[in-house]
Amino acid sequence: MKRYLKHYINGEWVESTGSETTEVINPATEEAFGEISLGTKEDLDKAVQAARDAFPHFSQMPKEERVKMLEDIAEEYNNRKDDIIDTITEELGSPVEVSEKVHFMMGYNHFAQAAESLKDFPFIEEYEGHTRMKEASGVSGLITPWNFPTNQTSTKIASAFAAGSPVVLKPAEQTPFAAFILTEIFDKVGVPKGVFNLVNGTGEVIGDGISSHKDIDFVSFTGSGATGEKIMKNAAENITNIALELGGKSPLIVLDDADVKDAARTALTHITNNTGQVCSAATRTLIPSSMKDEFEQAIKDVLPEFKVGDPHEGNHMGPIVSQKQWDTVQSYMEKGTEEGATLLVGGPGKPEGLEQGYYAKPTVFTDVDNDMVIAREEIFGPVMCVLTYDSLDEAIEIANDTEYGLAGYVYGKDEEKLRKASAGIRAGRVKVNDTKADFAAPFGGYKHSGIGREWGDHGIEEYLEVKTILGYPQ
Ligand code: ADP
Repeated sequence: MKRYLKHYINGEWVESTGSETTEVINPATEEAFGEISLGTKEDLDKAVQAARDAFPHFSQMPKEERVKMLEDIAEEYNNRKDDIIDTITEELGSPVEVSEKVHFMMGYNHFAQAAESLKDFPFIEEYEGHTRMKEASGVSGLITPWNFPTNQTSTKIASAFAAGSPVVLKPAEQTPFAAFILTEIFDKVGVPKGVFNLVNGTGEVIGDGISSHKDIDFVSFTGSGATGEKIMKNAAENITNIALELGGKSPLIVLDDADVKDAARTALTHITNNTGQVCSAATRTLIPSSMKDEFEQAIKDVLPEFKVGDPHEGNHMGPIVSQKQWDTVQSYMEKGTEEGATLLVGGPGKPEGLEQGYYAKPTVFTDVDNDMVIAREEIFGPVMCVLTYDSLDEAIEIANDTEYGLAGYVYGKDEEKLRKASAGIRAGRVKVNDTKADFAAPFGGYKHSGIGREWGDHGIEEYLEVKTILGYPQ
């Protein structure tokens, strides 16, 4: 039976005031498995009103109760584990193991971390001469993309709930069913009426409506730079506060003392995890010129470890999310050769035997110049550019020669060089070697990669205003 998704407004599942719907396609089968009701501005207004009505009470809810609410959500989220994994595999096409170890776990960690961060969060701070009070800024509008259906939604919602801000969420049309499960979870644990509202719809209607809404006080968006720009312009009309998490073209600097095979494996992991549909993925691998031949051979040697295919059959990489995105990725693969880069492995077209489904081949270009389009634009697919450098200073210069600044990666052994490269990269997050994620650490970008920080304490701060009180009775 096809799934069908309505809106959730003021604690009730409701039909849209309009009649339009859109199908949700499973990218591995190219078949529609569900349908969502496309919301109207009227639906959005109702959701915003419900959130406004919930604000006075929710923003004053004692911190301990909000901690408990987040812990209950994390627990119930765990209870829905199988459903969440199945749903993400179906709507995004990610391999079951990735749906579990990446998507499911990230969502869980955001709720658990928000509860932890909230316990000691300094809502009131006394200074000599003044008191600082932090309070929820109001109603938050959240707009999320399709590539991490539980991660992007959960980090925003968990931070908003921790801060005491009611929300209106518009998930991506391609992957809306993970948000449906989250909504059921909030409903089950008794999140107060109006505190969480889900309005499905297009970016043009609901996304645009959220970013230009007079009664929304803060907009948090994750997605493309072009859409981020529109959201910022809309928000400017009402002086609405915003956070934007946009694209990246992150560098991976491989040091000359790195194990070449391990470095090649890490580089390929970046472009194949989630089928390369990761804003913080390293897509420009910078290697010492002296390592070129050895590195190219290592890529060929480890490539068979990165199997592409059916998400249910233990493969490492599933399909790309949609036909539209597949076409975009293909055009970049063609562009690389046109620009004069050398195609080392992969390239345009579907992998052998995978004609049905939006599958693509892990693709590596060598002899890439940092001025080429494939080195400058975010491709959002399994495509790596390999560039060479002759000194660490040059590597850092190439790493920073980009309009983006979301992430950077350094791989090797020499501690001094690891420190120098980490400090030199201008990006919001630098990872040394294959370090694990830390959900308490801030995440966000420099330059065109965005504004603001999510995750942990910094995430909560986004949803707060700071009030200075002079002469507060002590
Ligand atoms: P993509 O092109 O990969 O889908 P987008 O940045 O367009 O990336 O999409 C991210 C989110 O932004 C989705 O929820 C989408 O519906 C929404 N969106 C798209 N266009 C707009 C817009 N003009 N205003 C606000 N949100 C939008």
